[in-house]
Amino acid sequence: MYDLVIRGGTVVTPEAVLAADIGIFGEKIAALGDGLEGKSQVDASGKLVFPGVIDPHVHFSLPVGGTVSSDDFYSGSVAAACGGVTTVIDFTVGAPERTMAEDLRKRFEDARPSVVDYSFHGEVVGWRPGRRAEIAEAMADGIKSFKFFTAYGASGRRTDTGPLFQAFRAIAEGDGVAVIHAEDDSMIEASAALLSREEWGRMGTVAEVRSDLCEASAVNSVGWIAARTGVRCHIVHLSSALGLGEVETARRRGAVMTAETCPQYLLLTSGVYEGPQGHLYSATPALRTPGDNEALWRGLSSGAVNFAATDHCPFTRSQKEWKGAFDRLPGGLPGVETLLPLLYSEGVLKGRLSLCSLVRATSEQAAKLYGLYPGKGCLLPGSDGDLVIFDPEESWTMRVGALRMNVDFSPYEGMEVRGKVWQTISRGEVIYADGRFLGRRGRGKFLPR
Ligand SMILES: [Zn+2]
Repeated sequence: MYDLVIRGGTVVTPEAVLAADIGIFGEKIAALGDGLEGKSQVDASGKLVFPGVIDPHVHFSLPVGGTVSSDDFYSGSVAAACGGVTTVIDFTVGAPERTMAEDLRKRFEDARPSVVDYSFHGEVVGWRPGRRAEIAEAMADGIKSFKFFTAYGASGRRTDTGPLFQAFRAIAEGDGVAVIHAEDDSMIEASAALLSREEWGRMGTVAEVRSDLCEASAVNSVGWIAARTGVRCHIVHLSSALGLGEVETARRRGAVMTAETCPQYLLLTSGVYEGPQGHLYSATPALRTPGDNEALWRGLSSGAVNFAATDHCPFTRSQKEWKGAFDRLPGGLPGVETLLPLLYSEGVLKGRLSLCSLVRATSEQAAKLYGLYPGKGCLLPGSDGDLVIFDPEESWTMRVGALRMNVDFSPYEGMEVRGKVWQTISRGEVIYADGRFLGRRGRGKFLPR
């Protein structure tokens, strides 16, 4: 007799789609089989059962340019749970004058109210030789991935290629992952320097200044360093066909390089900047063309793009009030709650993703890269009881009022979506069912890796 049995659903794993019951004992999956009996049972007939979604790129309570992203770890993780997400990976907030241990302590405090399980990437701002020991110390505390920016020199966050080479060697020694925001800052600065006042005043200029060439150029140079140091190197929020081509080139050169993309780069184009709400789409990298969308969908399906993440970094309309120039806006979009339904509706139902590739992209591959597998990212006996029960038939309209994220607009407002999260189960506990959040504050656990 199991504690909980999910009966009669269509179970989707990274390898197969099968009719099976899932038996959960305590916090763990105990069995997949037929006719399992449980103290409590959920009838999942007609539903799809996926491994809990992992969103490995979120920014809750992120301080940016005098404001803070509008979801904290409580509101953001509740929204995550409502969207089928059972694990999030956020970032420490790095600064040249602080140690990574200090950054980590602060983030542990911030994350205490989380309702889903979580981990952190260690953000590295200001490389110096002492950071080597800090990285080793962070690894001992269970942090195995470290984030660097090749852009944002103006705010002091950029790491140049020389320091990056040193950092990659230190991370490779501990078999960590170097996580890279890849945009060529010199190209951005040089083209920004030539802009007229009128061009600064148009939101669409961002796509020209931060072009796909900026992304490709940065991936190229990072790729050489990755190949030479042997580090596992991950490109976040890949936005362009050109950038994806450089990821594949780096792999041919011997780099162990992975990449993620986000729903905004699969579904939106730079055309959205032209409307009266165009400034609400401020985020980097910039949105691109329909051809880029399709190249990224193909990459996600083939595995050339390893997984999807959201880069969830919400700001409200008032935080994004237009101040006359596209660079005077906090950058980031909401998304943690809508990842799974968007990829199902726009990916699976439009023939761009198979059900198995959906599960690889939303759970398995991130778990494997970031050292969470097989506790997370699959539905094997012994894995955590993290599941999403998904109703493939329900049709709904994306409206900000119907979503839990703490933000007053949706980049997908009005989009017709088919398929909806029906229940979310985290370590054997139903935390969301049929429109209601049922978990409690602080139940999420830190996942050392
Ligand atoms: Zn980000």
